[in-house]
Amino acid sequence: MLQYKEDLRTLFFMSAITTLLVVQWKIGEIQFLLYIPSLILAVSVSIMVHNHIHVPLWKSKTLNLLTDYWLTFFYGYPICGWIPTHVMSHHVLNNQDGDTSRTSLVGKKNNLFTLLIYPTATTRAQLPTHFVFLKKLWAKNRRRCYKYISQFAVFGGMMLIALLWDWKKTLLFIFIPQQTAVTTVLFFNYVQHVHADRDSRWNHTRDFIGRISNFLLLNNGFHGAHHERPNLHWSRLPELHSKIENQINPVLIEQSILWFFFRVYILGLFFKRFHTQDLRELRLSGHATVPQPQTASGAGVN
Ligand SMILES: [Zn+2]
Repeated sequence: MLQYKEDLRTLFFMSAITTLLVVQWKIGEIQFLLYIPSLILAVSVSIMVHNHIHVPLWKSKTLNLLTDYWLTFFYGYPICGWIPTHVMSHHVLNNQDGDTSRTSLVGKKNNLFTLLIYPTATTRAQLPTHFVFLKKLWAKNRRRCYKYISQFAVFGGMMLIALLWDWKKTLLFIFIPQQTAVTTVLFFNYVQHVHADRDSRWNHTRDFIGRISNFLLLNNGFHGAHHERPNLHWSRLPELHSKIENQINPVLIEQSILWFFFRVYILGLFFKRFHTQDLRELRLSGHATVPQPQTASGAGVN
C-alpha cells in the first residue's frame, strides 16, 4: 500500500506524535519527558508534509487524502499551501527573485536577527499566493480545488472541536507543537539557502549530512540532492548526494545542523570568524571561495 517501504518510518513518527497527544491530553499537564519528544516530532511532521507533497505516501488516493488531513492537523495549516509556495515557486525559482521563500526577503546578511525575522517575512509573502492558487484552481479544476478546500474545512473543524473541548490543552498540546512545526521548517529553508550561490549549478544550497538529524528529519539535510530531483523519494537522497557531492563547494556541506545554528547565530554574535560568506557576492566580486574549516563541528554529531 505504501509507495516506498521506508515510509514505515513516517508512519511510526506519525503514530508516535498522535499517541503522545492522546496521552498528554489525558494527563492534562506538561510532562517534559513527553512534551520534548512531541516538539521534536512536530519538527519531523513539517518534513513529512514536505515529503508527502512531493511523493505521496500511499498508492491509494483515499489513504493519501486521509494522510493529507492527518498531517494538516499536526502541521497546523492545510498542507496544500506547499504547492504554490514550495513546488511551484521555490523549486522553480530556487531562491531567485520571485521565490516566496527567498532568503533575500530579510536582506543580504545572515545573522540571528535575519534568521528570527525570516519566518514572518516569508509567511507574509507566501500566504496571499495560497488564495491566488485556489482561485485559479477553482476556474481550472474544480474537483482538485474542493479537495484542497476540504483541508481547510477539516482543519478548522478539528481545531474548533479541540478548543471547545479544552482550550488550555489545545494551546499546550496542539497549538504550540503546530507552531513549532510551521516555524522550524522555515528556519531550515533559510539555513539551507542563505549565502549559497543561487545562480550556481551546484552551489545553490547548503547540505547538512549528520546521521541523527537526517534520521529524525527523513534526509531533509540532503537538500542539494532534493533540488536536483525534487520527486525522488527522500530515502534515495543520500545515494544521489554521494554522486554529486564532489561538484559542491565544501563550505556548503555541513555535518551538524545544530552546530551550524550555534556557530553562526550564537558564536557569530561575538566572533566574526563564525559568520558565513555570501558565495554569490564573492563570485560576483571576483574573489575565489575559500573553504571554511569545520572547526570543532564534531563530525557525526547532530
Ligand atoms: Zn521540496
